[in-house]
Amino acid sequence: VKMNQINKFDYVKSYETEDRCLPNCWIVVRIDGKNFHKFCDLHNLEKPNDKRSLELMNRSAACVMKEFQDINIAYGQSDEYSFVFKKDTTMFSRRKDKLLTNVVSLFASSFSYFWSIYFGSAKLLYPPSFDGRIVLYPTDKNLRDYLNWRQADAHINNLYNTVFWALVNKKGLTTVEAQERLKGTLSGEKNEILFKEFGINYNNEPALYKKGTVLIRKVMNDPNSDRTRKTTIAMNCDIIGDDFWKEHHEILEM
Ligand code: ATP
Ligand code: ATP
Ligand code: MG
Ligand code: MG
Ligand code: MG
Ligand code: MG
Ligand code: MG
Repeated sequence: VKMNQINKFDYVKSYETEDRCLPNCWIVVRIDGKNFHKFCDLHNLEKPNDKRSLELMNRSAACVMKEFQDINIAYGQSDEYSFVFKKDTTMFSRRKDKLLTNVVSLFASSFSYFWSIYFGSAKLLYPPSFDGRIVLYPTDKNLRDYLNWRQADAHINNLYNTVFWALVNKKGLTTVEAQERLKGTLSGEKNEILFKEFGINYNNEPALYKKGTVLIRKVMNDPNSDRTRKTTIAMNCDIIGDDFWKEHHEILEM
């Protein structure tokens, strides 16, 4: 290929567009497993919650946090994870395509890469994929409400799924019957079914399932030197109330 031929072709580059995230906004990247309903069935994941898969999700998210230091906080539940880049990040010049595709592909490859750590000899039967989107939030309140929304979603789904699978697995109802039984029930009624029919106090269910997982960075003493270093820590706590944000005020200040 001669040099003047390359010059002849390279005008096509000018057709590319560069969409940049609005300055001064929190950048949220949310990824979500593609067709995980099927993925979970095929891999015989435990219902309603398979601990291994949640831990694998958390491990993959920690890998993303390590690679992208401008992520202040991440929140995960079910087959989804949200990553929040600090407001003034200049990563990839805030180019949307770059941010989104780099996060989602690193997450997806990590999920396959770390699979056997959590699933041992149980084979990964096909390469799983994830979708991704970017949402910009201009205020701290918007960002907190976004995270509140995801954690409230985790709670509602988990309460429903916990009763649903108790009815199916412990009472022998068909999935259709269980669905019918739960149609229109309020939270209180679901709690009551769990307690009266199965002796389960929902409050005592694992926080990993009820709350999802939040990843943040904390300054720790490095045991190998007299320096400090930042490490990612995972918590399964409430992030809707003010307590979390008071204790970890630096998240919104970084
Ligand atoms: P889509 O491609 O539109 O996201 P989906 O089948 O992945 O389709 P979701 O709304 O993302 O739909 O739902 C995720 C599904 O994966 C749910 O059925 C949920 O119960 C299941 N799931 C996710 N994580 C786990 C887990 N750790 N244990 C058991 N089931 C899980
Ligand atoms: P960026 O993250 O910006 O894409 P990069 O290092 O991947 O950074 P590219 O412009 O994508 O930069 O260049 C890809 C690099 O990988 C080049 O240096 C190229 O020579 C090398 N490379 C890609 N494929 C092969 C291959 N099959 N064998 C040897 N080298 C390769
Ligand atoms: Mg979806
Ligand atoms: Mg999904
Ligand atoms: Mg989902
Ligand atoms: Mg290249
Ligand atoms: Mg490259």
